[in-house]
Amino acid sequence: YDDRDGKIWLDGQLVDWRAANVHVLTHALHYASSVFEGERCYNGKIFKSREHSERLVQSGRLIDFEIPYSVDEIEAAKEATLKANNLTDAYVRAFAWRGVGEDMGVASARNPVRMAVAVWSWGNYYGDAKMKGAKLDIAKWRRPDPATAPSQAKAAGLYMIATMSKHTAEAKGCSDAMMMDYRGYVAEATGANIFFVKDGEVHTPTPDAFLNGITRQTVIQMLTEKGIKVNERHIMPDELEGFEQCWLTGTAAEVTPVGQIGDYNFEVGALTREIAEEYEKLVRS
Ligand code: PMP
Repeated sequence: YDDRDGKIWLDGQLVDWRAANVHVLTHALHYASSVFEGERCYNGKIFKSREHSERLVQSGRLIDFEIPYSVDEIEAAKEATLKANNLTDAYVRAFAWRGVGEDMGVASARNPVRMAVAVWSWGNYYGDAKMKGAKLDIAKWRRPDPATAPSQAKAAGLYMIATMSKHTAEAKGCSDAMMMDYRGYVAEATGANIFFVKDGEVHTPTPDAFLNGITRQTVIQMLTEKGIKVNERHIMPDELEGFEQCWLTGTAAEVTPVGQIGDYNFEVGALTREIAEEYEKLVRS
């Protein structure tokens, strides 16, 4: 990803893609003092752009730093980066981190907070699975207790267990892994929230130990408007046996049907297809 043409917005300026570098003693690289957003631009408009910028600022605060740009400035930075790269349909990665400064220890209050925005074309996050139904492994790693890590921050540190879980899943021929939380309840995939269907109702885990995704909230609203009951509750993994359909939601994942989790199978049913199609229409409208 580093060797390509284009521009990246870095600390207030558009720089050449290949020149958007940081020093190896960057605090974030050593201590995960970094937060990020994943957004998608459809037909020239970023879906729920402002919510993503607000979440980025909030994630920074949750890991104890203040991004030195306002939400309006972040919005302008994203627009400028899309324009500079001539993209109207793209994935947008806005991120902020503690840079190099006076401190090389764990404390970093004297190190500057830096920010960048990169945009690129990114098709289906799960490839073919988008239509056929993704196959998920069940992760060994669990989402931490909110008293152990700031679960509602989209913070780099929370992705260490996600990367390890996804590597294990891919080695088994799966597209992703379903993770449990610290209590053993079903939580989410490594970068997407999860939904189940049973007897015409939808069930989805309560987001009390993982990110309450913007796509998740959008899909819950879509279902509610259709008159479909959404049960947000704690779900035990042994309940998977009784669920008929399953899908994942996320900015990158959009609405991706799930065909299998461990030994449990799901059909790519009518409601799953309907929600996937309606989401696609909504983001482009
Ligand atoms: N959970 C995790 C761990 C994620 O990384 C993401 C992607 N940001 C999501 C859920 C879905 O969030 P959103 O719908 O806001 O993209």
